[in-house]
Amino acid sequence: MSLNGHGPERRDLRIAEMIVTPVACPDPPLLNHHGVHEPTFLRAIVRLRTADGLEGLGEGPGGGLFVQELRAAAKHVIGADPYQLERLRVLIGRTPRVFSAVESACLDLVGKATGRPVYELLGGPVRRRVPFAAYLFYKEEGDDDWGAALDPESLVRQAERFHERYGMTVFKLKAGVLDPWEECATMRLLRERFGPKAGLRIDPNAAWSVETSLRVAERLRDLDLEYLEDPTAGIEGMAEVAKRTPIPLSTNMCVTSFSHVASAYRAGAVQVVLGDHHGWGGLTAFRELGVVCKTLHWGLSQHSNSHLGISFAAMIHAGAAIPNLIYASDTHYPWNPADIVNETERFTFRDGAIEIWDAPGLGVTIDEDKLAAAAEAYERRGSSLARDDVGAMRERNPDFLPLIPKW
Ligand code: MG
Repeated sequence: MSLNGHGPERRDLRIAEMIVTPVACPDPPLLNHHGVHEPTFLRAIVRLRTADGLEGLGEGPGGGLFVQELRAAAKHVIGADPYQLERLRVLIGRTPRVFSAVESACLDLVGKATGRPVYELLGGPVRRRVPFAAYLFYKEEGDDDWGAALDPESLVRQAERFHERYGMTVFKLKAGVLDPWEECATMRLLRERFGPKAGLRIDPNAAWSVETSLRVAERLRDLDLEYLEDPTAGIEGMAEVAKRTPIPLSTNMCVTSFSHVASAYRAGAVQVVLGDHHGWGGLTAFRELGVVCKTLHWGLSQHSNSHLGISFAAMIHAGAAIPNLIYASDTHYPWNPADIVNETERFTFRDGAIEIWDAPGLGVTIDEDKLAAAAEAYERRGSSLARDDVGAMRERNPDFLPLIPKW
């Protein structure tokens, strides 16, 4: 690199091109309180290119509205310097998910230009192995090889498979699907099967009333859960539960932005927040959430929606760089039969964790054929929709309604 009297020459990284590609990828019939995952999940892929052809990658949620918002942000992104993230954050404004996808691509660009992995841009690694939880779902039979899991025993077999394949020892049950009593029985079976050292969590997506949440908490009291996640809706409801159980409560539903923090703290609603770089406004904002949680003596975990490899890489970089992200992160990644990035050894779970790598940027590359196929699947599916688990369930059972369980 040549010197001009002011240090090394600055490489021009201004963004010349922004390509947004909505995609649809296969999803198994996983059940939650709202219904069932549709046969495909939607994501949007962002590619930012400099004039000399360097490319940065980002990924965000799919669906027509998000894609429109992303494309509308191009007027701020084209010509921008990817180092100047705060300027872009202000210009892109009120949509953290849009900024997050753009920020990921900017950090990937800067990392590639400087030869540094993204975790170095976030403060450097505090751990070389990023632990992940097995994300357990009741599920219907699909055309995948996981089989159905509609009772406690088959759910435990699913957990055994996660443990055997990926070495995971932390297990999170997506609940709010069966009778709460059966879901408690599932948790008890998991504890019996995996012993006292396994991490256990349960998350019904706020499907339960305060009273049901308290009955569940009482029934699970001796199981030494890591946390009970969003048993009921809203800061007030969570605070009522928190007052009357010693089990820590966690959330990715009632504290989802910085504006919720003060009222949740005052109410004593939660003890752990599940951050998510997509929803909180990027990897840099997620790191800031870590500082907030540390200040308030809240725990920090990492949330996941269905996602592809670009987001997975970003989640791994976050897991490596955020000091107090000490709970195993959630990820849907093992459920994916397909991806749009090139297959990489980097995504190999060993003992329930992913080891970080030294490649510049995020460390993933697009498989053009797979991306084209997933983009075509999106167009075939109808591009204006977001995921609709209730609708997918009602196609199977017209009487289905996600009601608060009586228990
Ligand atoms: Mg959750």
